[in-house]
Amino acid sequence: MKNIFGILQYVKGYWRYAVLNIIFNLLSAVFALFSVAMLFPFLQVLFSDDSKKLKEILENGKPEFHLSSASIIENINYFLATDIQAHSPVHALVGICLFIIITIFFKNLFRYLGMFFIAPIRNGVVKDMRNNLFKKILVLPLSYYSDERKGDIMSRMTADVREIEWSVLSSLEMIFREPVTIIISLVFMFLMSWQLTAIALVLLPIVGLVIGRIGKSLRKTSTEEKEKTGILMSIMDETLGGLRIIKAFNAEKNIKQKFEKINNDYTSLMVKAYRRVDLSSPLSEFMGITVFVAILYVGGKMVLGNNPTMNGAVFITYLALFSQLIAPAKSFTTAYYNVQKGLASTERVNKILNAAVTITDPLEPKTLVSFEKEIEYKNVSFAYREAEAGWVLNNINLKIEKGKTIALVGQSGSGKTTMADMLPRFYDASQGEILIDGIAIKDVKLADLRGLMGIVTQESILFNDTLYNNIAFGLENVTEEQVLEAAKIANAHEFISLLPQGYQTNIGDRGNKLSGGQRQRLSIARAVLKNPPILILDEATSALDTESERLVQDALNKLMKNRTSLVIAHRLSTIQHADEIIVMQKGEVIEHGTHSVLIAKNGAYRKLHELQSFV
Ligand code: ADP
Ligand code: MG
Repeated sequence: MKNIFGILQYVKGYWRYAVLNIIFNLLSAVFALFSVAMLFPFLQVLFSDDSKKLKEILENGKPEFHLSSASIIENINYFLATDIQAHSPVHALVGICLFIIITIFFKNLFRYLGMFFIAPIRNGVVKDMRNNLFKKILVLPLSYYSDERKGDIMSRMTADVREIEWSVLSSLEMIFREPVTIIISLVFMFLMSWQLTAIALVLLPIVGLVIGRIGKSLRKTSTEEKEKTGILMSIMDETLGGLRIIKAFNAEKNIKQKFEKINNDYTSLMVKAYRRVDLSSPLSEFMGITVFVAILYVGGKMVLGNNPTMNGAVFITYLALFSQLIAPAKSFTTAYYNVQKGLASTERVNKILNAAVTITDPLEPKTLVSFEKEIEYKNVSFAYREAEAGWVLNNINLKIEKGKTIALVGQSGSGKTTMADMLPRFYDASQGEILIDGIAIKDVKLADLRGLMGIVTQESILFNDTLYNNIAFGLENVTEEQVLEAAKIANAHEFISLLPQGYQTNIGDRGNKLSGGQRQRLSIARAVLKNPPILILDEATSALDTESERLVQDALNKLMKNRTSLVIAHRLSTIQHADEIIVMQKGEVIEHGTHSVLIAKNGAYRKLHELQSFV
């Protein structure tokens, strides 16, 4: 129930439509009942050949009108009797038929108007939900994604949101409309015969109980099914990204089997879920009819008995009203089942929406508009998972003065990337702090902090767009001249000019239409254009061959000029001229100094250096 109210939160913004919907549904329900109730005068006319009775009614004169079934029946009878006497029974019949058509017309008109106003709610809620999810995805810290599957997140954003639209929102209307119809019908029926209605009221809750039982189990199946969808999406995503390797390693069969297994599991869950949802309608119909028969029996006895307590026409009209109850009860149970199914998706979506954003702007941010003096790591320790023993970074102390180039070297896994990632606050220190010009980076706005930095990583992150837009990415008000200038500095202008469409060439998914070196020079051009005072280069040349490395390195050198840089390098030759070299091992700084000092020291750095000299 809590989750339904969660969804109703979204409906709040559309309350005007909701009110209109409810009003029209009410009107529609009332007209529906009127049209059925017309059965009574119809029957009266059919059996109106009893002229003795007609005369009796006319002689009694116009009965007084008050709101009770007896009075209404008397009045209808009187009205019909006068009409039959003045014209003919067929004339009265025509009148009744016209009346039925008019009520049915209004019933359907209002029903349509009700649906007309639910459409913007349904789609608006889904739109808001999708927007919220996307917004959330942008603010969630990187650490959130280490523990999640990308495919699963995408599946929540698409499949689960759609499921919510289909099952929950399309059912919301029924959940609110059908009870109204049912209650109005029950009131009508109660007026006609409270004895019979009492029987219905005793039996219907039992039916509800059985139906509710099955609904609950449906939710569990649906949760499992949605998880499988997430896994399916992940496999598809990974396969699309890794086709090259899958083909090279002849792993098609392997990955196909993996996919088919999950797909089979998914299918059998779906079959289970469908069967259960499909059970709702026949089940509720059967139980509804059982109650109907009980009433048929009791009511029939009331009509047939030696001193009948009920008029036959009234009883038939009553039964007609009751049969009208079965359809809304049926769609109510179906809706209820659908909601149960959809709530599983709501939970999955809410898991993203309610995930904690651990890296946020401070409440009262300090200003940091420029970088003037130094960056300082002060007793910084970090673990990806706090619970786990062992720091990835252990008590790091480091000062980077403005204008200097600091190199981080060390074995793979020694924590270099982690250390660099802490500067733009991709991760926050578990202990200690990082200061820029004496201000803790936690105390400044994220946008200000990140505005000071340019980042080039080993894997160039590019978007499926033109070269021009990839260079100008994230920046506003850049001129074409500036973009070209940046490309020139990054040694990218030359190869771009050779392309038939130049800067307007689309580079494909992740830039797969370019070579590794070209991609990297594009990333550098992007950093050049941003013109940040602080640069972070994480193995920017490691993935390249020697020839393109030379071009990229040259571009990097131009980029690093007059900036403060934190350079992580695999190949030591590229950082020999750094102002300071930090040697890391298992999350700790074990040596630091210039190249010549460290070589002279004959320690870890020298060993690394000698290892590479043989290559
Ligand atoms: P380097 O860049 O020096 O090769 P990293 O900083 O990438 O090293 O990694 C340091 C350690 O942290 C490694 O042992 C790695 O397994 C671990 N690590 C890196 N990223 C994550 C992550 N997202 N979640 C958990 N552990 C991680
Ligand atoms: Mg690394």
